[in-house]
Amino acid sequence: MEYKAWFQCISNCEGKYELNEVIYNCPKCGDLLEVRHDLNKLKKKSAWQWMKLFDDRYRRGEWPYGSGVWGKKEMVCPGLENQNIVSMYEGSSNLFWAERLGKEIGLEDLWVKQCGNSHTGSFKDLGMTVLVSMVKQMISEGKKITAVACASTGDTSAALAAYCAAAGIQSIVFLPKNKVSNAQLIQPIANGAMTLSLDTDFDGCMKIVQEICRKNNIYLANSMNSLRVEGQKTVSIELVQQFDWEVPDWIIIPGGNLGNVSALGKGFLLMRDLWMIKKLPRIVCAQAEMANPLYQSYLKGFEEFKPIHAKKTLASAIQIGNPVSFKKAVKVLKEFNGIVEQASEQELADAAAKGDWTGLFNCPHTGVALAVLFKLLKKKVIAPHERVIVISTAHGLKFTEFKLKYHESRLKNITPHYANLPIEVPAKYDAVRDTLFRELEKKDKRRKKSLQR
Ligand SMILES: *Cc1c(COP(=O)(O)O)cnc(C)c1O
Ligand SMILES: [Zn+2]
Repeated sequence: MEYKAWFQCISNCEGKYELNEVIYNCPKCGDLLEVRHDLNKLKKKSAWQWMKLFDDRYRRGEWPYGSGVWGKKEMVCPGLENQNIVSMYEGSSNLFWAERLGKEIGLEDLWVKQCGNSHTGSFKDLGMTVLVSMVKQMISEGKKITAVACASTGDTSAALAAYCAAAGIQSIVFLPKNKVSNAQLIQPIANGAMTLSLDTDFDGCMKIVQEICRKNNIYLANSMNSLRVEGQKTVSIELVQQFDWEVPDWIIIPGGNLGNVSALGKGFLLMRDLWMIKKLPRIVCAQAEMANPLYQSYLKGFEEFKPIHAKKTLASAIQIGNPVSFKKAVKVLKEFNGIVEQASEQELADAAAKGDWTGLFNCPHTGVALAVLFKLLKKKVIAPHERVIVISTAHGLKFTEFKLKYHESRLKNITPHYANLPIEVPAKYDAVRDTLFRELEKKDKRRKKSLQR
């Protein structure tokens, strides 16, 4: 069975382009391209057969199908030869039942999809495995590609560097100077990427990397390259699979460049078209108030879009003012009866910490999504009995500076309502015991009060 996929313009211009062509935009109108699949071929298997196949492969050893992405290869990138696949067993991330957090906010059925539990600590691995595999295939076919490059707010570059290192391909990453965490900076350095630190923001890096790639034999790895969306869309297939193919009511996704919102929507639409699911969830895009171009457009019914200057936010991976995938995301939000909501710095920092108190270890972007959840619940947009999935986009360990500063009250203009500081005690039994019981009592009182907030 020859499954087939190709690039096509999102504005439906004529023309199909092979996935191993170096092309990012429609040559006719300049719009983004997307990957389309031959649905008739995919429909030759029944919905039940696909679900069974995916379940049989899930987290098993047969390479590369044990990967959460490559277990769904036919629907991701069928033309890749297995020998060219560069996989780090990405995907299959934990769906964390946030039982305690749910109880505290009055939600019975709250889940956090831990996409940050991955090789480089963010969901970017899911898309990068597809893109770098395709580059490896193109090189094996004799295409001249000197290196692969991306602009990044920190996580894309970490993923690109790791997958390229595994494949033996040179990577080049463009980072906005002083705007990524230490962990995010050391990842590409450690993996041998050429790491360029530019005195601008993400949007500035994006402009330059596009020009560099267009004029040289360097392949562009940003999410305007829609191969990445194909890998990321497996998140929606996987989370439905984790509920034994039941569709949740709400998905909340932190959004910056808006590739991930587009990707998750695409995954659900594909499942619906193949009769694997009967309903669609509602999708919420959560933005930081400091970088909220989609939210502003949403307030005007998406009738217009103005790129903005994104201000500094603790949610640094979504500090983006001119999102590349704006149009794709709007299409998805319209189709999924979607909502865009925003969170302030205070809200996102407290929400991340509140979640941590119940066993999570959140990055600030997951904090944005959680803060938005709290708001929508308060506004009664989301009802207490509904099943909600929060997409956690990165591992909290990438953002220890943020977390440490929060607990030490060193974040500017933020009052940490969930701070928890280490206590210095003399190394003597009596002193330790007295302090311990005094503090336990205080903590108990404070906890009860804080959790009522
Ligand atoms: C990339 C990223 C996002 C935003 O995803 P987009 O596809 O750009 O909207 C959110 N959180 C983290 C941690 C990220 O790395
Ligand atoms: Zn076009």
